[in-house]
Amino acid sequence: MDNISRQKIQALEKMLGEDGPVAVTAHMRPDGDAVGSCVAMYHILKDAGRDARIVLPDRSPECLAFLTGTVEEGRLLIHEDDRAGAEAAISGCSLLFCLDYNAFHRTGEMESALGNSMARKILIDHHLNPSHELFDLVFSETEISSTAEYLYYIMMATERFGQNPGKLPPDAALALMTGMTTDTNNFANSVYPSTLEMASSLLGAGVDRDMMIGHLYNEYREERIRLMGELLSRSLKITSYGVAYMVLDKETIGKYNLQEGETEGFVNIPLSIGKVKLSCFFKEDKDRIRVSLRSKKGISANRCAAEYFHGGGHELAAGGRLTVPDDVRSIHDVPSYVEKVTREFMSTGSNI
Ligand code: 5GP
Ligand code: MN
Repeated sequence: MDNISRQKIQALEKMLGEDGPVAVTAHMRPDGDAVGSCVAMYHILKDAGRDARIVLPDRSPECLAFLTGTVEEGRLLIHEDDRAGAEAAISGCSLLFCLDYNAFHRTGEMESALGNSMARKILIDHHLNPSHELFDLVFSETEISSTAEYLYYIMMATERFGQNPGKLPPDAALALMTGMTTDTNNFANSVYPSTLEMASSLLGAGVDRDMMIGHLYNEYREERIRLMGELLSRSLKITSYGVAYMVLDKETIGKYNLQEGETEGFVNIPLSIGKVKLSCFFKEDKDRIRVSLRSKKGISANRCAAEYFHGGGHELAAGGRLTVPDDVRSIHDVPSYVEKVTREFMSTGSNI
């Protein structure tokens, strides 16, 4: 991580010191880092006496209820459930935090509300290629585990915290630990010296990590594990180019009554096979097929997502989509599509 600019911290402190409602937003299908960063920011703002609301494009996974449950009634708005309330919070705020995304289109249907908002906008994010022109203040850093970690160091650099994590509201400390833990896949990837220092400081400040791990990784439904078994034994294919892929269709999703977020982590599993360099996971959605990509060092999942799946992300973890019928006629065509494009990708432009 680069040094955080003193000038930017002062600009942030000035905005934090003003009055007026604040909206804290994250990307669609919010994950642990998005929700953790928003919940932490909310508690920090609330603690400072600000009138803060979290506005998310859609619902967050059930395993994160231990975080969202710490937000006061009426202060967590979901655009998918309450479009009017969510858009009123975005248009009515004077300060807007954009956490864990690099451009408004990553918020799906909230994109135009964000674009039209007259509020000053602060970006805090760790993805590649942020759209600088959309924001008044940009904190963008890719050499870091997560937005939660970045938010932690930004807050510690302010006068209010003065490098003392003990001053964080306890719910904010828990939310920051959660965002970092989920984005590193529980310390499996993107771990930097700063990441372990943050973890150590937050543990020292009293975060109950055992409780958090219990919620995140030990409360799955049996169906999730059974489905994982079925996918690994029946769907997983490995090409001669070292590309693994699995396809999950609507029929199977229905059979297991799968909930949002329950396939989180599936795409990582094939990467534990020695010969696999790139892992792709395809999940049939309403009008599109969602794509998750993970790669080993040297292979750019980000470039693969951008070139073949209308997406992007980080170098080793990215995502995107395939549209029906433009890219593929149906979910059944995904294997031939993925074999073709990854053959091209791995034999030409796969290197970072
Ligand atoms: P996941 O596979 O966990 O859904 O996403 C992995 C990473 O890729 C995340 O950092 C996420 O922000 C990014 N990502 C996922 N889908 C998209 C997409 O459609 N567009 C872009 N630009 N990034 C995506
Ligand atoms: Mn993130």
